[in-house]
Amino acid sequence: MVKIAKILFPVAVPEPFDYLIPEGMRLSAGDFVYAPLGTQGKLGVVWGFGEREDTGKLKLVLEHKPTRPLNPEMLKFVNFTAQYNCTLQGLVLRMVLRSHKALEPSPDVTLYKPPKNLVGERPTGLSAARRRVLDVTDIWPARAGEVAKAAAVSSSVLGAMAKAGLLERFTAPLDPPFGTPNPDYEGRDFELTQKQIAAGEELQALVRQKSFTVALLDGVTGSGKTEVYLEAAAQALRSGGQVLILVPEIALTQAGLKRFTERFGVEPAQWHSAMGDAARRRVWREVHNGRARLVVGARSALYLPFADLGLIVVDEEHDGSYKQDEGVIYNARDMAVVRGKLAGAAVVLASATPSLESLTNARSGRYHHVILPERPGAATMPDVALVDLKDHKPDAGRFLSGPVIDGVTEALSRGEQAMLYLNRRGYAPLIICRACGERLKSPDTDSWLVQHKRTGRAICHHTGYSMPMPSACPECKTEGALTPVGPGVERVAEEAAALFPDARIEILSSDTAGNPERIRERMAAMASGEIDIMVGTQMVVKGHNFPHLTFVGVVDGDLSLGGGDLRAGERTYQTLVQVAGRAGRADKPGRALIQTHMPDHEALVALAAGDRAGFISAELEMREILGLPPYGKLAAIIISAPDAAKATEFARKVLNKAPRAEGIEILGPSEAPITILRGRHRRRLLIKAEPNVNLSAYMRSWKSRVRAPHKIKFAIDIDPQGFM
Ligand SMILES: [Zn+2]
Repeated sequence: MVKIAKILFPVAVPEPFDYLIPEGMRLSAGDFVYAPLGTQGKLGVVWGFGEREDTGKLKLVLEHKPTRPLNPEMLKFVNFTAQYNCTLQGLVLRMVLRSHKALEPSPDVTLYKPPKNLVGERPTGLSAARRRVLDVTDIWPARAGEVAKAAAVSSSVLGAMAKAGLLERFTAPLDPPFGTPNPDYEGRDFELTQKQIAAGEELQALVRQKSFTVALLDGVTGSGKTEVYLEAAAQALRSGGQVLILVPEIALTQAGLKRFTERFGVEPAQWHSAMGDAARRRVWREVHNGRARLVVGARSALYLPFADLGLIVVDEEHDGSYKQDEGVIYNARDMAVVRGKLAGAAVVLASATPSLESLTNARSGRYHHVILPERPGAATMPDVALVDLKDHKPDAGRFLSGPVIDGVTEALSRGEQAMLYLNRRGYAPLIICRACGERLKSPDTDSWLVQHKRTGRAICHHTGYSMPMPSACPECKTEGALTPVGPGVERVAEEAAALFPDARIEILSSDTAGNPERIRERMAAMASGEIDIMVGTQMVVKGHNFPHLTFVGVVDGDLSLGGGDLRAGERTYQTLVQVAGRAGRADKPGRALIQTHMPDHEALVALAAGDRAGFISAELEMREILGLPPYGKLAAIIISAPDAAKATEFARKVLNKAPRAEGIEILGPSEAPITILRGRHRRRLLIKAEPNVNLSAYMRSWKSRVRAPHKIKFAIDIDPQGFM
């Protein structure tokens, strides 16, 4: 028998491959190596060892990279993620190895700065160019190119100045380490309330145990959850561990980051999808070697190779953006709990509107339940009421009812701010031809084109397809007959501008806000009172503080109800609580009105009554009857093919291959709600399982019986959130 190394590569492979170990090479699990794969030497990770007799065809490991190995817990985490979500181990490893360059030490770079004795002093007889260099501020230390640009001189000036003693020249790592957060820094200009201190101490006690534990931090909007979980983070930092704080992607751009800096004295390391290679490399390396102690990131940060993880916080744990829907399909909220367990770390799930799954775990005692019941200071919960659109019908072509218009008027007359919420981008969600009835459709996707007036385009929100808004109907060629139907934020803003001509109105949606810098800037403008009426989508609901906002009008409270989505009620409730929670966060009471055609819907009635417990028990009761999570498990299979008949045929084949098992119910195949996406026809199977069934194992066994033919795609989604 010969000892062999099992090596996993970050490519689409289901498991590690066997390799011979060259004489004298000492390998451990987690080591990075190069080994031949196909015709190339490729970077992989030693996943384990074994023994084999028939080693004739095995190849030798090429090279052992002398860098810190991945933790054993990281290997287990990759294995678990792949197993649970029925995906390939290699694809999960690819999420971990996001920067190959990070395995090398940081290259050095030459930097310049003025010597101490020249700060504020100017020797006589300097050339104009040298003087301009010394006049540059807010840049030091800097690279030659940066200084040359700022001072408008050629780089050679810097070399000469260094020789003359007018600049210091030194080398430093290109990727500087992150500053060390100080758990006792406390740079905030406010004090925590008694309730916040008590909740913080509860969490700190859990972190001090230095073992796996989960807490649900359940606090109303504006109750200061961030401040409380930062106390848990402080404790983890004191104990020498690393802290990972997951936030919905969009929150990374908000004032939120400032709170971390104020609390710990340094900016945290950040991780998100829009990062460049250099930033990625720096964060990965520093997290891996344990020097980045505090990381704030979007869901993929969960797959960073932490050396010694002490605490994971999942902020806004109910948020749909924790679910990754493409590639490796996983839910970062659920995987965070697993990661915490493998690392022996504390996990804090924070939300004003926890998911029913987390609430059930808290009620059953599996999770600690830490409750923050009230807003600090004089801030009270807003008064929420429903506006029945049958009784308060807006004028034709208008979307704001009398009571909502009055609400805005009153807020503005007091010098306060109003917000109009509508989760629809653009001007109108539908474009119809008055002459022939034609609706403008996306050419390759089963969805209507949305009119965007600002850009003058018609856009598909599922694929991004876009075309100039035509002046004539593409079907009957009638000029000027295309008509917008229904409201988007642009149209509501137009209506508001007509009603309140003197108000400063701003639209905030992903189209208008664009880059993170601009979002940050507009949020700051809203907070400081430079905007009177903000008209916004989903983007405005995530944890911003607007002290002068006292009225919120929800234009269409029914948007996410109905439509066969099993979580619609829960999601509507969560969104509306968050939106309503934007109002009255400082010392002014707030009010929220929700326009609806369904004033009897359970979610809305409970919301208006401020009856969270009532909503939750009604929703749980319904789920228990239907056997849905948390009373049962769900998985989905999505099949897509270039033509409809092939999709249907293959979906039937897949159904026929389903293993027989107790406690499993299979629904479908049926057309997916978006039947055609980017030209591919989609079919869906929904699998319901009783709680004691190992649904992942069942789905893996099913998957192993299925071979998808050329051009047909087959994906498994465990715990599907939406049903697109
Ligand atoms: Zn027409």
